[in-house]
Amino acid sequence: MLKMLIMGPAGSGKGTMSDLIAQNYPVAHISSGDMFRDEIKHQTLLGKKAQSYITQGLLVPDDVTIAMVKNRLQKDDCQQGYLLDGFPRSLAQAKAIEDLGINMVLNLTIDEQLLVDRIVYRRLCKDCGAIYNIKLNPIADNEVCQKCGGHLHQRDDDTYEKLMVRLNSYREETQPVIDFYRNKNIVHDIDAGQAVEDVYKQISKVLTEKSEEITE
Ligand code: AMP
Repeated sequence: MLKMLIMGPAGSGKGTMSDLIAQNYPVAHISSGDMFRDEIKHQTLLGKKAQSYITQGLLVPDDVTIAMVKNRLQKDDCQQGYLLDGFPRSLAQAKAIEDLGINMVLNLTIDEQLLVDRIVYRRLCKDCGAIYNIKLNPIADNEVCQKCGGHLHQRDDDTYEKLMVRLNSYREETQPVIDFYRNKNIVHDIDAGQAVEDVYKQISKVLTEKSEEITE
């Protein structure tokens, strides 16, 4: 069964690629960022704990994050395979899930200069979660989702200043996680600076080649 991670800095396209992968392969898409945003929306205790870290662009503490994701992985939809998006982001998190036997890591690599436009002009649909970029792929109405008519909004951590904080935390805390999996020989580097279809082509090539080898 596929037990995958997708890694890459903010704006590298993890969410977009995860949606495409989950449409085509038997994996549940688990995004720790989406889970936190959902908890915040519902103003749960967990959401209240996470909120100030997220708005500052900082990582939510490991204990809270690990418990949330481990709990999610118990659900039925994960029993055929899963794709973790945005988790683990620290070595402590990676070590906490070592027993799961993660067997594939897609590492989206991209020139940091390309990330600014991708993040600052990113808009999300409040209803269906569709992702847009109003500068790079202009749409008729910057406030209306073309898929469902829902309202488009900007994440409050999608500003230039918060992006810089997030990139810094990525370099310091998440890069060691990639090295940790590289030592296990399961990392596939994907050039994420290209158009969506071309990035996805690279991913589906890796998945076609490798998913047959993964039978466990
Ligand atoms: P994302 O949607 O993946 O960019 O995540 C948005 C924010 O949620 C991050 O900037 C962090 O504040 C928080 N977050 C998401 N995943 C994690 C994680 N694995 N560890 C700590 N904080 C996280």
